[in-house]
Amino acid sequence: MKLQSLQFDNRFAALSDIYYSRVRPTPLQAPVLTSFSRSAAELIDLDVDALRSAEFVAFINGDEDCAGADPLAMLYAGHQFGHYVQQLGDGRAILLAQVRNQRGESWDLQVKGGGKTPYSRDGDGRAVLRSTIREYLCSEAMHALGIPTTRALCVFSSPEDVYRERIETGALLVRMAPSHVRFGSFEVFYYRQQYEQLAPLADHVIDEHFPELVGNDDRYLRWLERVIDLTASLIAQWQAVGFAHGVMNTDNMSVLGLTLDYGPFGFLDQYDPEFICNHSDYQGRYAFAKQPSVALWNLSCFAQSILPLLSPEPEAAGEMALALLKTYQSRYDQYRDQQMANKLGLRTSETDDPELGRRLLLLMAKDQVDYTISFRSLSSFSPGSESDLRDQFRDRDAFDDWAKVYGARLQRENSDDHERRQAMDAVNPAIVLRNYLAQTAIAQAEAGDFSEVDHLMRALSRPYDNDADVLAYAGHPPDWADQISVSCSS
Ligand code: AMP
Ligand code: MG
Repeated sequence: MKLQSLQFDNRFAALSDIYYSRVRPTPLQAPVLTSFSRSAAELIDLDVDALRSAEFVAFINGDEDCAGADPLAMLYAGHQFGHYVQQLGDGRAILLAQVRNQRGESWDLQVKGGGKTPYSRDGDGRAVLRSTIREYLCSEAMHALGIPTTRALCVFSSPEDVYRERIETGALLVRMAPSHVRFGSFEVFYYRQQYEQLAPLADHVIDEHFPELVGNDDRYLRWLERVIDLTASLIAQWQAVGFAHGVMNTDNMSVLGLTLDYGPFGFLDQYDPEFICNHSDYQGRYAFAKQPSVALWNLSCFAQSILPLLSPEPEAAGEMALALLKTYQSRYDQYRDQQMANKLGLRTSETDDPELGRRLLLLMAKDQVDYTISFRSLSSFSPGSESDLRDQFRDRDAFDDWAKVYGARLQRENSDDHERRQAMDAVNPAIVLRNYLAQTAIAQAEAGDFSEVDHLMRALSRPYDNDADVLAYAGHPPDWADQISVSCSS
């Protein structure tokens, strides 16, 4: 469809303006469309020609309005690195409109880098090409891995300079999601003691995204349960592919359980539970192995912020929330164990399966083997024969001991090598967005050549395939990969 034929509206703007500020993008100089995701464009039935049109860039850049669009920046607060910050909000993101596709789904169309908003604090409201490309590639890569995430429609770059530690290229990212509401969208009203503002926002989210709960007297409690479950499932999926979110603050946590706000994220190269992907995270608060418990901490903040919705009696509300929060660990464990069973290619379940996975991870950590490559090559394992994977380990005896137990386990369920290989290759990706891959594409893009961004994007959209385009990115990272540092500055 052409841009003018899309059905724009903005139901978030139908809420009271206590939840947002109306604001239009401040045009960025001469933006040029440099990359786009076909599969994201299909979500809103947008033609590739329409995406490339002058009207589209004028709309995204705030030069032209579209009927029905009602641009705004959303208000939120959040716990950043454990400390409550009372006002954050979209400091450089503007929700331009919502688009309803032909299947009846609604997608937020948000521009990131569209200039200052009332929530910009000391920021310039801009985004640099480097972090825009990282978010673009990773959003679409996560989607292709099957992990819930916001989507990235396209990237524009601009000759306008943006000042960070160095002068960088200005850019715009067009992001899409069913909703951008965060844990922090509720915290802001709880801490301001504006409890009456919680219900209209919660009802908006429930009406739009949890229709099965609409009209239930206990809908807020059931919704909290859903958020806890969606979050537990999300984090188990992150851990399974070795993804770490660099800034797991409550303002970056989606109430729909989506991966949200890609800043200094990272994928494991070698398996290291203590991996810290954000150079500015000095204490390692968001180290890889801590993310499951950080999610519970964040969920506790969220639950606290909606206590007034659960019961007028504070004590009763607290008990209800606590009872649900206590289910997080077992939900998470179940999701994690299922992910690991899938990664190991197990069809049936035995009591000792989680231990089998844990023992492999311990060996991987001890010998610092590559996480993605090891799990991918495990699919060619065959009980009784020597496996390629063995060579990755320094302690071959320890690996052989493990392999004996694993082989016996496979034989107990009469596992078929060929079938298992197919099932394992569909869950253990051949490639993930390693930092060095992003860095290589970014360096070329900053020099004006976007072909590597597109090439990498095409491979990342098929991470489970085995063809040459994908395998070109499936090798060990080069030595310089260790030296890359990614921080909050973006
Ligand atoms: P983050 O942790 O990157 O998700 O961002 C934390 C807060 O800082 C959010 O409220 C952002 O909107 C805001 N922010 C980040 N970068 C900028 C910027 N360049 N200009 C204005 N606000 C920003
Ligand atoms: Mg954020």
